Amino acid sequence: MTNHAVRPGPRAAIGEPPARRLLLVHAHPDDESISTGATMAHYAAAGAHVTLVTCTLGEEGEIHVPALAGLAAAEADQLGGYRVAELAAACAALGVTDHRFLGGAGRYRDSGMLGLPTNDHPRAFWRADLDTAAGQLVEIMREVRPQVLITYDPNGFYGHPDHIQAHRVAMRAAELAAAEGIGPDKIYWTALPKSVLAAGLEAFGTSSDNPFAGVERAEDLPFGSPESEIAARIDATDSGAAKEAAMRAHATQIPANSWLHSIARNFGAESLGVEFYTLAAGGKGPGTGRYGWEDDLFAGLTTPLSPTATGPTATDDVPGSAGGAAGSGAAPTGDSASAGAGVR
Ligand SMILES: [Zn+2]
Repeated sequence: MTNHAVRPGPRAAIGEPPARRLLLVHAHPDDESISTGATMAHYAAAGAHVTLVTCTLGEEGEIHVPALAGLAAAEADQLGGYRVAELAAACAALGVTDHRFLGGAGRYRDSGMLGLPTNDHPRAFWRADLDTAAGQLVEIMREVRPQVLITYDPNGFYGHPDHIQAHRVAMRAAELAAAEGIGPDKIYWTALPKSVLAAGLEAFGTSSDNPFAGVERAEDLPFGSPESEIAARIDATDSGAAKEAAMRAHATQIPANSWLHSIARNFGAESLGVEFYTLAAGGKGPGTGRYGWEDDLFAGLTTPLSPTATGPTATDDVPGSAGGAAGSGAAPTGDSASAGAGVR
């Protein structure tokens, strides 16, 4: 259903590649959907070329489908292959047709959580030679020529070794590509404002599926950024349903009773559709609100960009559309336009 291995290049509908090209580098299948799924679906639907690079097959993941428990790394060790199919289904739900595995499927193995013996597997991504892995990503950059790159912050958002390594590889690749004159114009890192986390804590409260049970204050969570450090708030509420469908495609990893799904059940799928980023490189474009947040990852780029009209390659296979519900309710969009200067 998706072209995994061989692609002729950026999607060329009538000769011309889409003007807006977005590259995402993620560690495992499911990360793309959970942290950036709405952004991916939003830009794909608007005719941008969205390229997803996944660095491992996620072989070490927990399995939440009892009938598939035998696929586990310690059993048949078939989870990675199974997750290739889950990822393909997720990409279809997101309307993303350009997906690759870094170095080809199976080149790098899920390293497992930090400190486990799986970190030392010969193919563990954590042990990957940085320049080799970055070189594989540069090859993709030469072909796709993305203006915007999305990956994680130096802590991999939450500290998983493969996420940290994905950050390192993506940043090194951007550096190498820049030396060739083809580096991305902007680099974003996934982020969550502390205020959104605080609102989530409050919203879930004492419910049984509160993912933060026992946590009283957003400040106590190991992730989350001050509002002033956020550069972009992407309102992709129109793609919240696509994100929810993509997460459902990762059934071995995200059980049906997961709090990720209960967000959609309790607050509407569109509430999944607001995603945040910090800007790691490139100039911040014009923004709005108290913190001057950009509402478009391509904001301020001087590269000629296409109109955002739904072009001939716009997806029509994104299941459902949440419609234009206003905002997530969780994100503070201040209305006094103060300078967002210096936000990185
Ligand atoms: Zn992951």
